[in-house]
Amino acid sequence: MPSSSDTGGKGVAECLLVPSHDQCHHMTMASLQLLLCALLAAGVSACSSSAPSQNSEPSEAKPIPLTASQLADAAPIEAVTPAPKDELPAYPLDLTSRKVPMTGKVVCPPVNLVHYSGKVVPFHKTARINEHFVDHLRRFEEIVSETAIEVYGRAPSRITRMGSFYCRRIRAWPYLISEHGLGNAVDVGGFDFSRVNGEAALDVPSRWRKKFSVTMSKHWQARSESDAEHQRFLHLLANRVINEEDLFRVILGPADPKHKDHFHFDMAPFRIVNVFE
Ligand SMILES: [Zn+2]
Repeated sequence: MPSSSDTGGKGVAECLLVPSHDQCHHMTMASLQLLLCALLAAGVSACSSSAPSQNSEPSEAKPIPLTASQLADAAPIEAVTPAPKDELPAYPLDLTSRKVPMTGKVVCPPVNLVHYSGKVVPFHKTARINEHFVDHLRRFEEIVSETAIEVYGRAPSRITRMGSFYCRRIRAWPYLISEHGLGNAVDVGGFDFSRVNGEAALDVPSRWRKKFSVTMSKHWQARSESDAEHQRFLHLLANRVINEEDLFRVILGPADPKHKDHFHFDMAPFRIVNVFE
C-alpha cells in the first residue's frame, strides 16, 4: 500500500487530502496525529485526549502512533472533505461513508462491483472490484507492462493478485471499513513470466526467455546478484506508480509492517505513500 514520492519515507511518509489534490503535505507523525484527531473529531469523535482501542469507545481513546495502513483506512471521507454540492467529487467513492457500527456483523455500503481479470496484463484470478476502480487498475497494468519490457524485454504473463473486494473492519479502527470493503483497493504480490519462444523471443535477452516469477516477498530486497534485476524491476515499478498523479492515492509496501510481501493500492479520500524503508 502507498508511500512518500519515490523513496518512501519513515512511517507515514506523505499525506494528501483530496480537496487540495494537487498539493502534497509532508507531515511529521505528531502533526499527522493532530490532523487525524481533527478529522475524526468532525466525523467519528475518535480523538479526545485519549486513544482508540478495540475495547473502548472512540471518544475514550488516547492518541497512539498510527501505521500507514491504519491511516489508510481510518479517515472517513465526510470528515475529510465536506464536498461542495456544486462540485463534482474528485472520485465517486469520496462521498461514501466508511463508518460502521463497532460490533455485530459488518455491513459494507452498497457499491457496484465488477469482475475484472486485467486488460493489459491478466490477473491470475478474477478480481471483484468497484466499477470506478477499473480504469486505475488498467493504467497500472500498462505501467507494469512498460516497466517489465524495459527491464526484461518482455511483459509479464500475469499479475499475482492477493486480494480485492473483502468486506471487513479495520482491526485497529473497528468503526471503519477497509477500502477493500468498497472494492476500492487491490493487493499485488508478484508477477509471473511464462516462457517465450519463436518470434516473440527475438527481442528478449536469452536469460529472460525462460519461465520465472518475481515476488515482493523474495525480490524486493535482492539477496543475490541474480535477483538484482528483479529488485530493480519492483523498485522501478513502485516509483512509477507513486509518481503517476491520480493513479492511486494510497500506496503501501514493505516499509509498512503489514505489507512486507505485497503492494496495497487504493483510492481512499486521502494520500498515504509508505513503500520504501
Ligand atoms: Zn490491501
